Amino acid sequence: MFKKIFSFHTIDGDDMKSMSIWQDIQSTSLNPVSKNMNVDVLIIGGGVSGLSVLCQLKNYSLKTILVERGLCGYGVTSKSTAKITYLQGSLLEKIRKFHGEDIASRYLQAERDGVFLLQKIIKEEKILCDLESSPSYLFCTQEENFERLQKEYDFLLKNQVKVVKTRFQGKPALKIEDSYTFHPLKYIQGLKKLLKEHIFENSKVEKIVKKDSFYEVLINGYTIRAKKIVLATHYPYFLKPFLFPFKNHVETSYVVARKEDNPSHVNAINIDESVVSLRYYQDYLIYLFHSETASKRSFLKERFEKFSSWDYEWTNKDVITNDYIPFIGSLNKQDDSFLFLGGYGTWGFSNATIGSVVIKDILLEKHNPYISLFAPYRKLKFERLLTDSFCTIEAIVKSTKNNVNNQEVIYKKIDNQDVAIYIDENKKEHIVLNQCPHMKCGLVFNPLEKTWDCLCHGSRFSIDGKCIEGPSNLDISFKK
Ligand SMILES: Cc1cc2nc3c(=O)[nH]c(=O)nc-3n(C[C@H](O)[C@H](O)[C@H](O)COP(=O)(O)OP(=O)(O)OC[C@H]3O[C@@H](n4cnc5c(N)ncnc54)[C@H](O)[C@@H]3O)c2cc1C
Repeated sequence: MFKKIFSFHTIDGDDMKSMSIWQDIQSTSLNPVSKNMNVDVLIIGGGVSGLSVLCQLKNYSLKTILVERGLCGYGVTSKSTAKITYLQGSLLEKIRKFHGEDIASRYLQAERDGVFLLQKIIKEEKILCDLESSPSYLFCTQEENFERLQKEYDFLLKNQVKVVKTRFQGKPALKIEDSYTFHPLKYIQGLKKLLKEHIFENSKVEKIVKKDSFYEVLINGYTIRAKKIVLATHYPYFLKPFLFPFKNHVETSYVVARKEDNPSHVNAINIDESVVSLRYYQDYLIYLFHSETASKRSFLKERFEKFSSWDYEWTNKDVITNDYIPFIGSLNKQDDSFLFLGGYGTWGFSNATIGSVVIKDILLEKHNPYISLFAPYRKLKFERLLTDSFCTIEAIVKSTKNNVNNQEVIYKKIDNQDVAIYIDENKKEHIVLNQCPHMKCGLVFNPLEKTWDCLCHGSRFSIDGKCIEGPSNLDISFKK
């Protein structure tokens, strides 16, 4: 479909990198946790969520530290398309249908505040992250969706948004001007530099134990005593409290990037069922061409092969909550000592930024109009719980069948353990345990990025079994 819309020049396909364009820069690491500590607030996870919270707390007297399992920013944050916008595909429409216009207006206002605040932080802190003002387009390729676009327009106008009707690549579209693009990993590195006294990398949280008035958290063999915890791990690695896996589904998207003859400064997304999203970075076009739910995941190897003249290819996943509104705040209405932020439905930058203000205000016991909007303990609709649970069960069944694009993989039992063996192009065997430690789902091999992926909740492991993305908090390396 996009061939009709864009024209590309061709480059040699052999140079294609199976990694995100943002990760192709140098990083340095900060020290790991190497002693016991007492703190007021412990933030777990160094993606945009965790670092945004740390940034919000920097001028307050609460003793706060952030711990990150690997290097800050290398989780979901560094594999996004990194648009900063409140024109978010069909998300606003879904929220309107699900919750009505009042809640949708509040969500829209929160996103506008998030976009404004994020660019303000970048400018005030002088973070060099290639921030660019970039008009956002919401376009529509199918005639039957023209009316949906019109409704979106009416809703935005009603909410005092400066939106215009226009065309994008010949298709009907809406356009707003107050939106941006940036380099997400440079932003994270800028925040890391600014807040380095408070950050510990290569520090994985292994255990959290609740005591009377504090938490004991085990990291690298040391204990952190924290009065409050902010969990910013994208997806909690534990089931209880909150039963997170039943309140959302995971969606995976396929992204490519390549140099283009005539780069532009716009960003765009469509409102139709099959999602297409794009932006530019310097001479590169970044193109998200397909999204699918866990149970439908197909590892579109053929598609990538067809477009082998791209410079970068990667996949990324995000959490879509049952009712499309992120989970930001306390997991338990009676207890403000354990907070979470995530479930951004692929719109993490505006949400993490405004979410970090919500978290700060909860910690400081201040009023914030968005606390009730995002409260994770809000009531979810029963039928959506059923749909998402069914989707998860479908993914579990699919994963245990071992037949998802797995010609290169041998499954067998060794020492009574179920293992999967991938034999690489040099005939080297890579043996891993074929079960995700999170909820015991089967794993499938991802031939694009050479990882073992859990279809159900999105954990990913390196070719030799090291956990690189949660919710799993454990490796699947096989030892005889
Ligand atoms: C394809 C795609 C495109 C997207 N494009 C956009 C976009 O254009 N604009 C937009 O606004 N949003 C976009 N998003 C969404 C956005 O990227 C995410 O919502 C956001 O980056 C999530 O950030 P996070 O900090 O919550 O998670 P992460 O970046 O994953 O950070 C979580 C961190 O926690 C760490 N961690 C996990 N477990 C532990 C532990 N036990 N101990 C210590 N640390 C731990 C991890 O190592 C990780 O670094 C996109 C998402 C996808 C999938």
